[in-house]
Amino acid sequence: MNSRIGVALTFLRNAGFRSTAAPRGRRYFDGELKCRAGTVPVRLQITDWDFVSYPAIHLRERPVFLSSVSPHLFGTNGLCYFAARSVILDRYRPEVALSQCLEQARDVLDRLCSDADYRQREFETEFGATWMLGQLPIPVSLLLGSVGAHDEEASCYFLDGQNHAFVSTQPREVDGFCKARGWSKQTSRMTCWLLRAASPPTLPAAELPKTVAQMFAWFRLLGRDAYQRLQTILGKPEYLASSTAMFLIHSPAGWFGFTIKLDQVKRTAYKRRPTRYRQFLHNHGHEVAVSRLAVTEVGSDFVHSRNLSFPSLKDRRITLIGCGAIGGYLAQALAKLGAGSGTKGRLTLIDPDVLAPGNLGRHYLGIDHLYAKKPEALKAALLQQFPALTLIAEPRSVDFAKDLSGDLVINATGEEALSEALNHYHTLLPSRSRPPMLHVWILGNGQCVQALWVDRKKFACYRCLRLPDLERKPRFEPLREPTQTRVLGCNAFTPYAVSAPMSAAALAIDMTAGWLQGDPGPRFRTRFVEAQAVREIKNQNLSPLSGCPACSTTRSG
Ligand SMILES: [Zn+2]
Repeated sequence: MNSRIGVALTFLRNAGFRSTAAPRGRRYFDGELKCRAGTVPVRLQITDWDFVSYPAIHLRERPVFLSSVSPHLFGTNGLCYFAARSVILDRYRPEVALSQCLEQARDVLDRLCSDADYRQREFETEFGATWMLGQLPIPVSLLLGSVGAHDEEASCYFLDGQNHAFVSTQPREVDGFCKARGWSKQTSRMTCWLLRAASPPTLPAAELPKTVAQMFAWFRLLGRDAYQRLQTILGKPEYLASSTAMFLIHSPAGWFGFTIKLDQVKRTAYKRRPTRYRQFLHNHGHEVAVSRLAVTEVGSDFVHSRNLSFPSLKDRRITLIGCGAIGGYLAQALAKLGAGSGTKGRLTLIDPDVLAPGNLGRHYLGIDHLYAKKPEALKAALLQQFPALTLIAEPRSVDFAKDLSGDLVINATGEEALSEALNHYHTLLPSRSRPPMLHVWILGNGQCVQALWVDRKKFACYRCLRLPDLERKPRFEPLREPTQTRVLGCNAFTPYAVSAPMSAAALAIDMTAGWLQGDPGPRFRTRFVEAQAVREIKNQNLSPLSGCPACSTTRSG
């Protein structure tokens, strides 16, 4: 036997655990955890001796001192003692790893029965997972799209052949989502009432609400406003229109929902006096079942903000000039950051070129878009991923008079002459109507990528990076070796691998993220590839160059 496992088995034997019958490939050990409130018989189940996944610990019987609804305890009496990936167990010292697991399990059980604050806090943290426990058959799960902060109702769309339903205030969002996902269209629609709770859900003493009576009692604890609103809805005729009343509640612990099945005869009878149905629910609530619903957010606000600690690009008007190697990856990253989301948001993509075979090795798009106009192909590809975004494809050359507007203009063309022209017209704009402009490009054969954020006149413009001499010598030269180019027919191109445009796009996104947090600086940045022959350039807020032909005459503006 593997000596590592042998040591672990000795440890378990000494800890009072004895091996018991287990399915092939697993080892089960029965033992006890000595908790403060009493001894808890447990079964340790080891399936993975590498400890990538933690050994499972099940309570063999539920002790009386643990309430029937408890955080960290699943319906099957499985105990969640470490949050996934929160602790790395040492695979080389399995006896230490197992000892850690048993200690932690005992500690969780101790806290569950002695610390009410801990119980409530943990209940809130895993509320979404707990809310659905103990219900059969499992009801449909709800995908929650976009609802406004003040919307009082939304529509719930049941989708053909899916065990998800979709809740949204925007029918277009549902259509777009189903189309992107390849799901058939909705089969029916019903109203879903939205409520907002000021307080987090409270851990119930005995069980999660199963009847209207239990739900009403529990709902009172969510705060007066939410309870009152629920009662107001139940006093209006609208909720009697459907055989099920559906409620979605936003609380500090996230969204959750429930339904009440309505009686056909009473619905008709109380149509003109809906408060009498409500009265019936109060008087006979223990006879009427509720079904608890799980809610998963998929709306733009959630998708584009979930991973951020700063605002997304929601409601911003962004123009991306250049949909080539840099622009392709950048467009996708901007979309992920929320460009084109929100009622005012839009992402405009400008490029006159079509996607050629020569582009494919370092472009975000592939053969499925070959010979398509780059902005149109990018739009189609991104809408497939995020159907709710507002994307505008402009398959044409840049229009200096029209395109330098909105909240942010990004020049990802990587073409120096075009960048100079863009910079020129940008510099001429009066400051009140001049959006910040971000230039991003690749240097040499991808040894480094650079970006310049141009907003205020006290900082350098794009042309300030060239000396005002006849040769237009660079003010900073990081490259130590001449750039290799290849010529095919009348076309020259610079070889570099796909990492260069990805790195340039990442640099542009980092600066955009800085802008979203209030400071795009340092405005001039260089990002180097390791182990290249280069001169380091400091990242800095660069002053304008005296005598710059582009910005020195307009600097008073
Ligand atoms: Zn300048």
